[in-house]
Amino acid sequence: MVDGNVERVMSRLYAVETPLPAAKAELKALAGELVTGRRPGDWAQALMDLGATVCTPRAPKCAACPWASMCAARAARAPETYPRKAAKPARPERHGAVFVLQRGARVWQVRRPDKGLLGGMAGLPTTEWREAAFDEASALAQAPVAAAWNRLGAVRHVFTHFALTLDVYAAKGAPPNDGWWGDVSALPTVFRKATDLGTQ
Ligand code: SF4
Repeated sequence: MVDGNVERVMSRLYAVETPLPAAKAELKALAGELVTGRRPGDWAQALMDLGATVCTPRAPKCAACPWASMCAARAARAPETYPRKAAKPARPERHGAVFVLQRGARVWQVRRPDKGLLGGMAGLPTTEWREAAFDEASALAQAPVAAAWNRLGAVRHVFTHFALTLDVYAAKGAPPNDGWWGDVSALPTVFRKATDLGTQ
């Protein structure tokens, strides 16, 4: 049986460069090569115990380890860098524009579609959110109403599955048909960032 403790010990003992989880089969094979024919169950238990108590994820107690003299990771003075871990894939970037139509301390709000991110919540009117950034003309083509929109800058918000950059356009004037004048405190954080920029 090869658990996370055993994987850690094997990866350090042999300085295995293959990152987890791809390295699992390789680490299992290395552990299998070391197992003795006598009392293999005890050997496996001892190896797990070694990983749990001596070859710990942080600050391994190498001075107390029976494999200290033959451990490649210790020789490289880098035991904590093993097992190698695969780099996380970059978080996708999305772009859009958001429209802050202001009347006094209130802003024009819309109900977001029920399905999707922030579904059914109050929001500011936006363009679609897409991979490519918007230029001003393409952003204003999706504005909720014709107005003298001023681009005030951009805000960025990181969601779990993507990062969103919204160009913020602000104006004063008549609202579109759908929506309501509301207090900014009712808005999700990503839109409050835009109102912080758009209502100054
Ligand atoms: S010498 Fe250190 S890093 Fe190497 S197996 Fe032992 S405790 Fe782990």
